[in-house]
Amino acid sequence: MVDLDILVQADPDVAAAIQKEQRRQKEGIELIASENYVSPAVLTAVGTVLTNKYAEGLPGKRYYGGCEYVDIVENIAIDRVKQLFGAGFANVQPHSGASANLAAFFSVLNPGDKILGMNLSEGGHLTHGKDVNFSGRFFDAHFYGVNHETGLLDYDQVLRVAKEVRPKAIISGASAYSRTIDFKRFREIADEVGAFLFADIAHIAGLIAAGEHPTAVGQAHIVTSTAHKTLRGPRSGFIMTNDEELAAGIDKTVFPGMQGGPLMHVIAGKAVAFGEALQPSYKDYAKQIRANAAAMAKAFEDRGVPVISGGTDNHLFLINVNELGISGRKAERILDTVGISTNRNTIPGETRSAFQTSGLRIGTPAVTTRGFQESDVETVADLMVQVLRNPEDEAVLASVRQNVLNLTANFGVPGLA
Ligand SMILES: *Cc1c(COP(=O)(O)O)cnc(C)c1O
Repeated sequence: MVDLDILVQADPDVAAAIQKEQRRQKEGIELIASENYVSPAVLTAVGTVLTNKYAEGLPGKRYYGGCEYVDIVENIAIDRVKQLFGAGFANVQPHSGASANLAAFFSVLNPGDKILGMNLSEGGHLTHGKDVNFSGRFFDAHFYGVNHETGLLDYDQVLRVAKEVRPKAIISGASAYSRTIDFKRFREIADEVGAFLFADIAHIAGLIAAGEHPTAVGQAHIVTSTAHKTLRGPRSGFIMTNDEELAAGIDKTVFPGMQGGPLMHVIAGKAVAFGEALQPSYKDYAKQIRANAAAMAKAFEDRGVPVISGGTDNHLFLINVNELGISGRKAERILDTVGISTNRNTIPGETRSAFQTSGLRIGTPAVTTRGFQESDVETVADLMVQVLRNPEDEAVLASVRQNVLNLTANFGVPGLA
């Protein structure tokens, strides 16, 4: 358990805010699909004096002295992540998923090059070409999406757009897509138009590591990821490839291309998290994430709330709250007041603004870490539908808030007493 006593003495203002956040994490139900709870071991590693150390360069090839011990840590992280994903090469230094993408893209692309990514409004990520992001500002971005009727990725459309656009690179991977991504098909499309294939597995990395989703390693030329979503590591990113030449380019682009000193304390946290994901118990965890997501999606459908694509193959799904007469923004805010944390999301064929949205994204990685089973997430879905159908009814809101407190009292949060 992380001991806050020293901080309470040294800086009561910051300590008080952290204590409130601890309580929020404990008493609330976390359904944000990109969040999770790291283990006490990961928390401990991240909170160490490794934060003091400059280590520009790679293990054995640093630009600072005194790196012999952080070299051990970084080598462990690299070896474990390679083993976990069956990858030939890995760079574990990116500070975040966005930094990993920036480095990966610039290791093979030049400003102005054409890229083809999944539309943000249909499940893609900001860094896959959105105009407000570096990816849309530095590259000539084009998009593919999902079929608005089925909610499924339309690979024929991807191929059609790829043939029209002739992109230098195609980006596969998503932030709000509930179905299996066919990376093999993406590679066939990339090969057919002579494009480079990136796979951004930020969301599904943990499922891939556990064999609960087909891998992108070996299909995509370069695979990028976060460590902190389903994979349950500290907030950060990493990059993998099987190609030695690409690996050399990636290393150079991360440092000195984009970053200075790597966050060695976070790399230590990654090493620990990758070790945890190599344990047999992690496979059970990943299976349960999917079982919970499937059970929860079905519970919404059973209560008349439409689920985009009719269900889920992975750790998340989207519900259409428009059908209940409220916006995604309102749904997110009202659920927050009863201690249920979600995020609004556009849905395929969105009719509201990107700020209001018609959808809500729901994910099970965090509650599964706390030990929720199918019956628990079905209860949560039931509570959510009560709130969404009666957003103005104070008695309903008060009763659901009490139910949330009763339920979460039965489940701990790793790292909190
Ligand atoms: C979360 C996410 C990222 C960005 O990760 P950050 O660590 O927030 O920068 C990149 N790509 C995808 C697909 C994501 O879902």
